[in-house]
Amino acid sequence: MLSKVLKQYWGYDSFLPLQEQAMQCVMDDRDSLVILPTGGGKSLCYQAPALCREGMMIVVSPLIALMKDQIDNAKQCGISAATIHSGMSADSKLTVVRLIERGEIRLLYVAPEQLLTPRSLEFLGRQKLSAIAVDEAHCISAWGHDFRPEYRGLAALRERFPNLSMHAYTATANHQVRDDIVNNLRLREPEIIVGQFFRPNLVYRIARRERLVNQVGNFLDRLRGQSGIIYCISRADTEKLATSLTSMGYSCAAYHAGLSDAERTERQEAFVEDRVDTIIATIAFGMGIDKSNVRFVIHAAMPKSMANYQQESGRAGRDGLEAECWLLYGSEDTLRWRRTFEELSEEARAAGDAALQAMHAYCVSSQCRHRLLVEHFGQHWDRNSCDACDVCLGQLEAVEEPLIIGQKILSCVMRTGERFGATYVAMVLAGSKDRKILQNRHDQLSTYGLLLEFRISSIRDWIEQLIAQGFINRSGEYQQLNVTAPGRELLRGQVVPILMRPAKAKEPIAATATSLLNSWEGVDRELFAVLRAWRFKTSLARNVAAFIIFSDATLRDLARRMPMDLVELRSVHGVGDRKIADFGNTVIELIGNYCRDHQVQPSVGIVPPKTNLAETIEGPDAMQVAFQLFDDKLSVAQVALKINRAEATVHAYLQNYLNARRITDPSNWIAPELFELIKTIARYSGLEKLKPIHDALHGRIDYNDIRTATTILRNQGFQSIDAVPIDFTNL
Ligand code: ADP
Repeated sequence: MLSKVLKQYWGYDSFLPLQEQAMQCVMDDRDSLVILPTGGGKSLCYQAPALCREGMMIVVSPLIALMKDQIDNAKQCGISAATIHSGMSADSKLTVVRLIERGEIRLLYVAPEQLLTPRSLEFLGRQKLSAIAVDEAHCISAWGHDFRPEYRGLAALRERFPNLSMHAYTATANHQVRDDIVNNLRLREPEIIVGQFFRPNLVYRIARRERLVNQVGNFLDRLRGQSGIIYCISRADTEKLATSLTSMGYSCAAYHAGLSDAERTERQEAFVEDRVDTIIATIAFGMGIDKSNVRFVIHAAMPKSMANYQQESGRAGRDGLEAECWLLYGSEDTLRWRRTFEELSEEARAAGDAALQAMHAYCVSSQCRHRLLVEHFGQHWDRNSCDACDVCLGQLEAVEEPLIIGQKILSCVMRTGERFGATYVAMVLAGSKDRKILQNRHDQLSTYGLLLEFRISSIRDWIEQLIAQGFINRSGEYQQLNVTAPGRELLRGQVVPILMRPAKAKEPIAATATSLLNSWEGVDRELFAVLRAWRFKTSLARNVAAFIIFSDATLRDLARRMPMDLVELRSVHGVGDRKIADFGNTVIELIGNYCRDHQVQPSVGIVPPKTNLAETIEGPDAMQVAFQLFDDKLSVAQVALKINRAEATVHAYLQNYLNARRITDPSNWIAPELFELIKTIARYSGLEKLKPIHDALHGRIDYNDIRTATTILRNQGFQSIDAVPIDFTNL
């Protein structure tokens, strides 16, 4: 029954881990506490059983924005869900009341303060109810990061509705929070279901912040047009970064608690509806965001705790597709956070400090990023490699002579009198001619220029790593370095530190970019873009967020399988009955037109979907091999022969390759005269559609060549002249 509902309403073929078990608790009226990471599919854990049971389910949720998203989502799947909240007009409330009385609502979303009024309780007491679900249940705990005192009142529900089972859902794994939820909600012998906090679709990377705007700009160039969040420490930081990035042409907006409610709502909606790509925010931005297609989360500064990092970075990739989490830290971050603790009680300050220390240790560690996160939350780690962080992807490697480098650094700390900070010491070691160094006559020291062959930033990284391993201490207002007792052992050669540096052979982004492409395997990017544009228009017309119409995963699967009729459409990931009824014919027509216009054989696109990053990057991967062969300048036909794939498939790989490597030189891939001709036509026709170019060339040139040329033109930053209709027939 549950799996039938899953397919019928959501179009999913299988449960996510632990979902079925969580759903079964609701079916059996057994109280439950379900702890699944963000993106684990918690909503369905109560929504699916609500559809299998009689009566209406009450869903407690903390924020109107969150409820609105959930309801939009449910409605798009054909589920009758409603909310009652203080912002609604009397008429709208009355309409919902009537629907409830007629038994037409399956899920009622309500905030605790609204639910707990005597009138609401009395009204609900007269209705047929199935169970109570408490979403974001960590809000009940003062130990959590989003404590909401109104949640405490929910204990009253147990007395008011003793026969209903209660089910709590959260992504916060902390034990104190867990206990608080069970006690405060008075759960009766609840089944506690805890999911795996390892999220292989998130690729974690950490680097030191150097020139933030440049670093972020380069990153955004790679993921242009994708949705992402950048977290900063202060409001001023968000504004500053937003101004710089906007002036460089990136689509972004700042978000923080200093904005008016209206401004915040407007910016949040623009982000959710894909009108703004990147939101640059303080931690004020978060819980209300249920956007499933966030493709990256950048921390422009160190987060204030591991719990914050897990939550904030976890907002990426809820749809299960690959996403990137990039943390940029600087030595001043700890101090800046500490300043924000000044108002707190002594106890809270101490807790905050401990959390900062753990976070800093994480930043400078050279161990698997996923492993440390998972272990921090008390879960066991039993893999050799996560295959999804800079450490495991081999983007960091151990330096060859860590003892000698460590000794050089420590002796420089001593020789400069343990009176200077990390950057200064690094500059002395690198032989900098900085005025201050010359004034202090530190160019006369025996340690001056000892690490001349390395960049200052590498030496800075090693100093951080030595601090993290306890060989150096940092103290005082200016964060001066001094050598600790273990540091002295190191100087004597009795212990060896572990020092890492970015791997030389691999560009830091290469592995990520390649893995990013894996789940694009077989996807016709252009069709994806067509479908995305249609989704955007439809979402505006229906006044819902774009990903509620279809998720990115569904769009990719559509552009991969290219279903030709409603039966084939049913097999696409995330397409249930209601979506077929609402959009089926339109989508089939769009795809049909696309295939006809581009002479694409739909069957070419059928490749089994791959969504699990860990799975996809293991073993030989055809596309990866193709990339290497393209690097060696083999033609499409040669690659097709070598990897035993159809040429059409290899053409698709080539497009991915040209995009990923940002190829701007056409000479290997297309005859120069033809490229120039296409370029001339495209100046008038633009790059959006291939057909006008194809027609202008009298249909004599293969679409694959046209696609190759337009992709390279895009990489070159090509601009068309604003289209004036032009007669191409004389060209
Ligand atoms: P959470 O609340 O735990 O963060 P959601 O309930 O928002 O997660 O679900 C995250 C995404 O996963 C949504 O896009 C949802 O539709 C999708 N999802 C949920 N269950 C399944 C499933 N069984 N198969 C595929 N996708 C699913």
